[in-house]
Parts: sequence; C-alpha cells; structure tokens
Amino acid sequence: MAARTTSRPARSKATARPPRRRRVLKVDHHRRWRPRSRKGGRCGYTLDGKTCTRSGAHYCEPRADRVVAFFAELLVHPAGAWANHAFVLAPWQEHEIIRPLFGEVIFSEQWGRYVRRYSRATIVMARKNGKSALLSGILLYLLCGDGEESAEVYGAAATTRQAGKVFEPAVKMVKKSPVLAARLQHIKNARRLVDEHSGSHYEVIPADADTELGHNPHGFVLDEVLSQRDDGLWKAMRTAAGARAQALMLAITTETSDGTSFGAEFIDEADRVMEDPARAPHHFAYVRKMPRTVEELERLWRLFPARPELPVSCDPWDERNWAWPNPGLGQFLSITSLREEAEEARASLSAENGFRQFRLNQRVSQVTRWLSMDLWDANAREIAPTPSWARERLAGERCWGGLDLSSKLDLTAWALLFTDGSVLWRFWAPESVAGVLDEHTGGKFSEWARDGWITLTDGDVIDYDRIYADVDDDHDTFVITDVTYDKWTGEPVRQEIEKQTGLTLVESNTTYDRMTPPMKEFEKRLKAREYGHFGNPVARWMADSVQKKSPRDDPDRLRPVKPDRDKSGVRIDGIPALLFAQDGAMRGRPVESVYETRGLATVGGEAE
Ligand SMILES: [Zn+2]
Repeated sequence: MAARTTSRPARSKATARPPRRRRVLKVDHHRRWRPRSRKGGRCGYTLDGKTCTRSGAHYCEPRADRVVAFFAELLVHPAGAWANHAFVLAPWQEHEIIRPLFGEVIFSEQWGRYVRRYSRATIVMARKNGKSALLSGILLYLLCGDGEESAEVYGAAATTRQAGKVFEPAVKMVKKSPVLAARLQHIKNARRLVDEHSGSHYEVIPADADTELGHNPHGFVLDEVLSQRDDGLWKAMRTAAGARAQALMLAITTETSDGTSFGAEFIDEADRVMEDPARAPHHFAYVRKMPRTVEELERLWRLFPARPELPVSCDPWDERNWAWPNPGLGQFLSITSLREEAEEARASLSAENGFRQFRLNQRVSQVTRWLSMDLWDANAREIAPTPSWARERLAGERCWGGLDLSSKLDLTAWALLFTDGSVLWRFWAPESVAGVLDEHTGGKFSEWARDGWITLTDGDVIDYDRIYADVDDDHDTFVITDVTYDKWTGEPVRQEIEKQTGLTLVESNTTYDRMTPPMKEFEKRLKAREYGHFGNPVARWMADSVQKKSPRDDPDRLRPVKPDRDKSGVRIDGIPALLFAQDGAMRGRPVESVYETRGLATVGGEAE
C-alpha cells in the first residue's frame, strides 16, 4: 500500500510525454457511481432505433446520444481554430461532461418518469479550453433540444460586458446553423433568443438582476462564479427551478484567488463531490486543478488511478503537468502560447500568480482546504457503534490529551491520542448552539448529541464543571501522560483542571511555530493509515471543514484555520485538539522518576 502513494511505476519516469498527444478516453459510462435505486420500470427510451432496456437509476445511452448528436448535427464552432466546423465534441467534452451530465437518469415519483439525475453541475477548469462554445451549446440544447415546453433558460454574468461574452457565441452558432436560424429568433437589444415553436426563450441577465421576478428556469448558467458578489441569484434560481422536472443549474469557472469568497466555497464543494459523489448524487462535478502540494497530487492519483494526463509533480513549469487543468490543450489551446506565457510568468511573482490561477486553475491563496476525506475515512480502523464502545476497549491504555477550549458560548473539544494511534474525542456545547448548528448540518448536530457524541449542557454558556468531571473520569479510565492546550484560550480553566484532576498541562498555541510539526506528523501518519478514529461523526464533520494556512513565502509552514466567511455553522475544534495531543505524543513520555521505577526504599542506594 505504501508504494502506491509514493510512486506510480509507469508515470514516475522522467520521459516526457508530449501534452499535445491525442488521448483516447475509454469510459464505461455504466460503471459510473450512482445511487442504488431500483425504482421505475424498463426505461424504453429510443433514439435512432436504439432502445434503452435498463431500469432504476442508470446511464441512458440513447439520451446521451441525443445531446451528442445535437452538437454534431446542428451546431458549428462559433470562433477560434475550429470556427465553422461541425461541433463534434472532443472526447473529454463528450465522455467526461456531456454524456454523464445528460445521460444519467433516475426515476422521479413526482413526475412519473425518468428524469436527469443531475440538477446541478459545476465545471472548474483553466481558461481558454473552449468554455464559451461548450456553454453556448448546452444553453441552446436546453432551449430547443430538450423537449421542454415553455423552457426558460438564463445565462448570468457579473457585468453587462461579460454577459455579452456569454451570449454572442450562442447567437453566432444560431446564425451559422440553417436549422436553428430558421427556428430561433434573435431579439436584438434584449440579449434574448426565442423559440416560438415551444414557447421557450434564452436570455442573459445581469448578476444583480431582481431575484423576485418570478423566473421559472429550466436552465441556468452562471459563468465565472468567482466574480459573483454573493450567491443570491444562484439560490433564487435554484429555488425557482423546483417547478421543472429536470432543470439544470450549471456553474462554470476558473479558480479564485480569494479563499474566503463565494466562489471558493462553490469550488470546494464541487471538489468534495468529485471525491465522494454520494455526498450529493444530484451534483455533477468536473474539477481539473493542478495540485499545489504533494498531498493534493497523491489524492488525484488515488481518485483517478491510471489516468495518463494526470500531473506528475507540483512543478508549475513542467509541461507534463499542464494537460490535467487544460483538457483542451492541443485542441482549443496551443502548447506554444502556454509555453510563452509560462516564460513570462517566471519573471515576476504577480505574473506567476496569474499563470497559476488562470492557466493551471490553482487557488492562489494562502488558505486552502486541508484534509481529503478518502484518506480520513481510511483511518477509521473500525466504526464504533456508540461512543462508549471504543472507550471500553482502550481502558487502561496510555495516551496524550489535547484541549481546544472555545468561547463560553461555543464548542469545546478534548482529544485523546493513544500509543497505537487510536483517537477518542469528547465535545461539549451549551444547548443554545444546537439550533444554528442543526441548520448547517441538516439536523445531524442534534442527532450526534442524542447519540452521545456531543455533550449538550443546559443554558447559554458552557458548563465547565461538566468538563472537569468528564476529564477527571478519563483520567481515571486511561493513563493520560499530559494535556496540551492553547494558552491563549483558557488560563482559568487550566488552573481548575490542574487543581481538580492533578493532570499535567502543557502550553501550546496555534501559531506556525507550534502547529507545523504536529500537522506534518499528522499528514504523515494519516497517509500511513496509522490513526484509528473509529468513524467519530463529529470529528469527521470538522476534518471536512478545516483549512490550512501557509505564509506566502513559505508553503512548508502550516497552521489550521477555520473557514470564516458567513460560516457560523462550521466548527473545527476537534482537529486542533487532536493536533495538540499529537504534539504531546511527539514529546513522548517524560523521563520516569526514580521513585516510580525503583521504589522509595532504594533512594540513597542503601537497600541493595
Ligand atoms: Zn434509459
């Protein structure tokens, strides 16, 4: 297992693979992950004599064929090197976006028929990979190819100028297509295409459009999410789309440089879904980013085994790493122009940041998501059915404690790290926080409290007596070497714990100096699958949210941070608590006192 994460035999050789080479994508669409649903009878969808015989949630090949044929037979490329050529989708466009996005279906009880499984899609890739043409094609399909009566299709962009950029390629495509030109009407000055045949229209609206206008969208496309001020329009459209059987909300973007923006949150969520599609079965995610760290690179290797275009390192100047964030390289984007830009970018830091963001699709930000959940889950060892299950097994064992005291109004976390890598947590919170946290966890917070993973105490402020009593209880149950805590948060509590339990408390804090060593050790041990967290659901929720920060000039220094913008529902306290405990474990055991090992009688050497 260890070898898999450190080298990939076929790819680690220094032999350069020319990124220009045409890739043959072999995709078995039927094997894609999908929810296990047997609902719905035989599909029976037919196109060109091909009938789908599948049932339940499935990949419906004739439905996907229909969209691919719409592109090839009705559309032409509006501009660029392929201008006026039939829009035959590139293999990556066809097999990684269009076929799964339009071919995956699920039976809808509400509509009594099969509908598209994906109601939401996020596409994240570097600029100039044929985005506008692909978007325009999708919009036109939703407008007049999808069999939707009175379809309302909207495109949104931050500025009027940007909106024009989204609209123009679609208009060009219509003009160049005899079939569409005969069918669709372009209402000038309104940025509107109308299909009188089905009573449908496509319109471009500004990002600050009135969200109360009573839209009933069948399709909504948000271009360059990161330039949106907030998610108001997106949310309004999503809510309104509920009235359609298979509306599609599509966001397409390049990475942002603002780690706390609406766009960053959007991209991170898509990244999580790419990692774990079961997280949101209705959300289609296509994310192609050049990794910034070895951890991110290895995560890609795990998620996409044997993909030839995966990066081979984190070196932004190595051409072998450019194909992944630029799927259109060699087709829409020439390697020569990318090389020239790379040359210029090497000259200055700001140019380098631009190259990284727009050409390699990297988040040029000091704050990024830290843990990949597939690795976290691989460190469960066993799933504990109840909180007491693992406690009982570890009774009498040696461990190190970590305490992350939050404000009196919030969550406090206590972690115990055992010599064999097992981890136990306790969480306390005043019951008044449950409402807010339930909102952000879909009610799970209260479930966790009910099941004993979190201790809720009465009232608006945390009950420290309960914390002292629980810590003392753990002190009796386990052999706690010492407890590391954040000196900035809890001096009175420290004094009280020391007084009441007799435990040794060791100061730390969450600066780069103190956090870098335990975080590096944590990454190393997580990769080696040396932890056993027994699937603690609260800790998982926190691990999923924790971010890491590095100084701009030194990516090797780390500290954990909490995502801050409008995220009152995010908590990470269990992770710093574990890092404090990890810090203690790295210090090891204090040198044992001569009294403990040899007994009082030997002092002075007279008893022998
Ligand atoms: Zn089917």
